[in-house]
Amino acid sequence: MIPFLELRPAYLELKHEIDAAVARVLDSGWYIFGQEVEAFEAEFAAFCEASHCVGVGNGLDALHLALRAMDIGPGDEVIVSSNSYIATLLAVSLVGATPVLVEPDPVTHNLDPSRIEAALTERTQVLLPTHLYGQPADLDPMLDLARQHGLRLLEDAAQAHGARYKGRCIGAHGDAVAWSFYPSKNLGAIGDAGAITTNDPDIAARVRALGNYGSSVRYVNEIKGINSRLDPIQAAILRVKLAHLDDWNRRRGGIADFYSGQLAGTAIELPFVPDWADPVWHLYVVQSDERDSLKDALVARGIQTQIHYPIPPHLQRAYVELGLAEGHFPVAERLANRVLSLPLGPQLEADEAERVAEAVRMSLGDLA
Ligand SMILES: *Cc1c(COP(=O)(O)O)cnc(C)c1O
Repeated sequence: MIPFLELRPAYLELKHEIDAAVARVLDSGWYIFGQEVEAFEAEFAAFCEASHCVGVGNGLDALHLALRAMDIGPGDEVIVSSNSYIATLLAVSLVGATPVLVEPDPVTHNLDPSRIEAALTERTQVLLPTHLYGQPADLDPMLDLARQHGLRLLEDAAQAHGARYKGRCIGAHGDAVAWSFYPSKNLGAIGDAGAITTNDPDIAARVRALGNYGSSVRYVNEIKGINSRLDPIQAAILRVKLAHLDDWNRRRGGIADFYSGQLAGTAIELPFVPDWADPVWHLYVVQSDERDSLKDALVARGIQTQIHYPIPPHLQRAYVELGLAEGHFPVAERLANRVLSLPLGPQLEADEAERVAEAVRMSLGDLA
């Protein structure tokens, strides 16, 4: 059986470095904030070509604290892609604002900039695109819209560590960028972790205070914050993994290129990469009208796949309040019925990728 993704091989590849990093924190006697967190923040900001990085507890908090730092709250509307992961919407709901869904481009799967203007109202405050599957969203038209209409741009980059838009690393195109270091992400911790990057010192300072009880001076609380801090053990591990991120992203790219070569001309639709995009292949997502049969046929051949995501946010019970029935977002709904993610990760071996591609071709042959 080839699993969709295994996390242990990533640890084993860097075991000595990771174990030493963890031991360093244990020995330091310093278990909240401190040197490891500061060093990771500086290194990740440099990697992202951003002036500031603030570590937080997870990706959802990164999004939600960035929105709070922008003073977004009840009565405000935030534009979100109708096929994003639920966390993007939950962050908007957490601050009391309303997520306004806009369809993705059916080919790139990312928020379609040409559909945004029609969704703007006098309450719209933020554009919140997701760089889904490691593919950068088309930011320039969104930056133009933000400028024209006085909106903020917040990017959900939880799946896009190291991705480039028009040659420049994702990290500070918009007002702020939210990151998750959930273990399966391209840059993954060994537990929960997250961060924001920004060129805006004000947003950085506000997120830092908000994640630390609303305090920047000990026992002085300017605002009502929460506790959401990047754990020093996770920071130390992330520093180790950050040094390997470009290499691991290259390996992901190699597998993606291999799949695209092997599966060209078959009955499935392959990922499309615009010429301005340097994706980092968090996921390799194909599309098929017979997705469910294909998934079953692959299981029968020992290949595990996943669906990202089977139910679009507007059809989730958690969002009945939006009152959006099936048929409201046909692009997102069609994607949810057609997408299938093939096994992919930096530690997937070449012979495993060959077996996956072969199994997909044979399964498609059986279904034809
Ligand atoms: C993983 C993810 C998140 C949430 O990150 P957590 O660290 O799990 O809170 C948010 N948005 C997207 C697009 C994600 O993939």
